[in-house]
Amino acid sequence: MNREIIRKIDRMRLNGSTPTAMAKELGISVNTVKSHIRRHPVIPGTLPCVCCGKPVLQKTGRKAKKYCSDRCRITYWNHRYREDTDGKQ
Ligand SMILES: [Zn+2]
Repeated sequence: MNREIIRKIDRMRLNGSTPTAMAKELGISVNTVKSHIRRHPVIPGTLPCVCCGKPVLQKTGRKAKKYCSDRCRITYWNHRYREDTDGKQ
């Protein structure tokens, strides 16, 4: 798999494409796409959302974005608050 294909896979992953859709579009095997994703769980230039794990595109020179959306930010904080009050970690 060449670098151009990898770049395209990573861009499509950001758009939420499924491995099947990516394989079809690029004319490569689904297993090739899946194994790439397994070996590279984090897309370069992104960080996984701390709430849902979806990749969040980072802007260079800015503070790291931890959440993919306001909804995740709120969910995450509510969740943490509940865990704290339970006396659990
Ligand atoms: Zn999220």
